[in-house]
Amino acid sequence: QVVTRFAPSPTGYLHIGGARTALFNWLYARGRGGKFLLRIEDTDRARSTPEATEAILKGMDWLGLDHDGEAVSQFARADRHVEVANELLAKGAAYKCFSTQEDIEAFREKARAEGTSTHFQSPWRDADPSTFPDAPFVVRLKTPQDGETVIEDEVQGIVRIKNANLDDMILLRSDATPVYMLAVVVDDHDMGVTHVIRGDDHLNNAARQMGIYTAMGWDLPVYAHIPLIHGPDGKKLSKRHGALGVEEYQAMGYPAAGMRNYLARLGWSHGDDEFFTDDQAKEWFGTDGIGKSPARFDFKKLENICGQHIAITDDAALLQEIVMYRAVAGLPDLTDVQSQRLNAALYCLKDRAKTFPELIEKAHFALIEGAVVPDEKAAKNLDSVSRGILSSLTPQLQNASWSRDDLETVLNRFAEENGMKFGKLAGPLRAALAGRAATPSVFDMMLVLGKETSLERLTQAAT
Ligand code: GLU
Repeated sequence: QVVTRFAPSPTGYLHIGGARTALFNWLYARGRGGKFLLRIEDTDRARSTPEATEAILKGMDWLGLDHDGEAVSQFARADRHVEVANELLAKGAAYKCFSTQEDIEAFREKARAEGTSTHFQSPWRDADPSTFPDAPFVVRLKTPQDGETVIEDEVQGIVRIKNANLDDMILLRSDATPVYMLAVVVDDHDMGVTHVIRGDDHLNNAARQMGIYTAMGWDLPVYAHIPLIHGPDGKKLSKRHGALGVEEYQAMGYPAAGMRNYLARLGWSHGDDEFFTDDQAKEWFGTDGIGKSPARFDFKKLENICGQHIAITDDAALLQEIVMYRAVAGLPDLTDVQSQRLNAALYCLKDRAKTFPELIEKAHFALIEGAVVPDEKAAKNLDSVSRGILSSLTPQLQNASWSRDDLETVLNRFAEENGMKFGKLAGPLRAALAGRAATPSVFDMMLVLGKETSLERLTQAAT
């Protein structure tokens, strides 16, 4: 069974790169009936905060990236990491190193002077335990000194690293605390992780981590190191170009489904498909579609994809997402009347908005309660001539049955009788019904608002 994991360090919000890593692991597992686990890598006590963990969980929740089982705290497993280090010691795959910082500095200085490798070579590597001093020590992994470590990476291909270039890494510090690199391997092994998909900034770590797997005789996971996300200019992603926390995307009103779709496309492709559903992504996603060069973040594409997702979301789910968006954006809760009207209006709004704020702006006519206050442009369509038109139209609408057909008949007839193009009539109607110049069609608005409210607004505007 496939087991993937997302292993964020809780030192800040869930940024867009982290969210994409989580998404890739989620898609990989979900598309294969596997498990997707979450491990909070909180071993850096000085920089890890509960707030950051909270933000990561919230961000994943918003993106719908559900994980299996409880989130694992790496720090809570420190005893187990120490246990494995001791096992490696007992096997002779690791050793106690009593060299001090000064010893190491002296080694390096000498190496520099002699032009040899500055990788520290501990004199304690093969020392006889009877010569051990009663002094603090670190535990180091006995890395093979010749040969090479070969990473068979699903994205990067074969990566060879000469073992001579890897020093004997520290597993336990002199205070007996385990290092991060050991923790990752032990946790991945114990959690049964089969596939490690993560940023390619961890590629070098993979070589070191493999040394621990090999020393323990554990099966290696499949590695896929994905290129980082760049800005549209090809440079490191900056704030202006999208290096934001996912909660900021939520607050900007992008739908989660669109965000998932766009993030999946950032660095991964399936033919020419730009727009797809979660089910398609789960079915299609694999490491073979991951590109070798950094993806470029592009707000335009994000918006286009989001617009298409808004258009296919069913009304009930869409309304729920809008309500959530309003809460996050600090907008007032919808009243019953507002949400009822918005719900009724969604059919004519959802294929015209790329974000929730855009949709809400277009829904303005449905959200107004009480008097309609025309904006500057709309006010121009409510001069005395227009008001005259509205007051002669209103009585004719009074008898309409308020079906789309009937409304069309009444309005077209009115326009004809008064020798005006329908367009001339639409401006005043938009102004009266919505207080705006750009709105959904007048028929859609009248149907959503109903006869009573529509007539009220027309009458108000006419006087
Ligand atoms: N905690 C690491 C990070 O946030 C990820 C480690 C890993 O995926 O192996 O960059």
